[in-house]
Amino acid sequence: MNITFKNLTSIYHENTPFEHLALNNITTTFEEGLYYGIVGHTGSGKSTMIQTLNGLLLPSLGEVHAGNIVLRRKSRQRNIHQVKKHVGMVFQFPEHQLFEETVLKDVMFGPKNMGMDQRTAEEKARHYLHLLNIDASLFDTSPFDLSGGQMRKVAIAGILAMEPEVLILDEPTAGLDPESHIETMELFQNIHQDMGITVILVTHDMNDVFQYTDQVKILSEGHLVKEGRTDDLLTDEVLLERYSLEPPDIVRLVHDLERKGITFEQMPKNVEAF
Ligand code: ADP
Repeated sequence: MNITFKNLTSIYHENTPFEHLALNNITTTFEEGLYYGIVGHTGSGKSTMIQTLNGLLLPSLGEVHAGNIVLRRKSRQRNIHQVKKHVGMVFQFPEHQLFEETVLKDVMFGPKNMGMDQRTAEEKARHYLHLLNIDASLFDTSPFDLSGGQMRKVAIAGILAMEPEVLILDEPTAGLDPESHIETMELFQNIHQDMGITVILVTHDMNDVFQYTDQVKILSEGHLVKEGRTDDLLTDEVLLERYSLEPPDIVRLVHDLERKGITFEQMPKNVEAF
């Protein structure tokens, strides 16, 4: 399923003294099966963009086309629900949304809420808990008795169990130690590759954007200022500097060496040798 914004404008507190233009006339497409990064400073409109992508916010002007469903300023609940069904969102600190008595019930909640029968919901829940390496002995315990890392995995399993076609990740590694950070990012990478799910990642970590995404969209003050292939945009230091974005470490390293007159061919294959 492709998702397209057509001349999308998003205004908070419209027609009040607090009116604020968060997204300004954006037209862009998220194509099925690709891995996208959305980058930009705090306040540039990233959260507004992803909430608009899954129907949590409706456009003030313009349209969102999610497959053949169109969301506008006054769309019906039925259409909004359809979009939410297809577009899953892993919020920052998703473990804060756990609430059921047991791990299994928590993961089954989303699928049941979407209309899946009890049996199918349980099958999905068990499958995704297993995929996230949550041991079956924990299924009947309270999610609040788990470690922080396990709680986050249970919350993620709950989103995956709804089998979204598009998965939005909002700073999914915030607060994780370096090992869990890699484990989490690799997990999403595997899901993306094995299941063909479109992934949209919002993060400040340019190394992750460089390593995992195919395409990047750069937001600045509510405008979509640049979009294209990650390999092109994140190696363009002039562009990154213009929007005060940090280049990924590897790009910075290569450019530093080039400035010292060491060409790419002369660089050792293993950069750790430096
Ligand atoms: P980002 O995720 O890139 O930090 P946001 O989408 O959260 O950006 O915010 C974009 C702009 O909209 C910012 O100027 C922010 O202050 C404003 N904004 C965000 N949420 C609200 C809200 N609920 N009410 C009013 N203004 C908001």
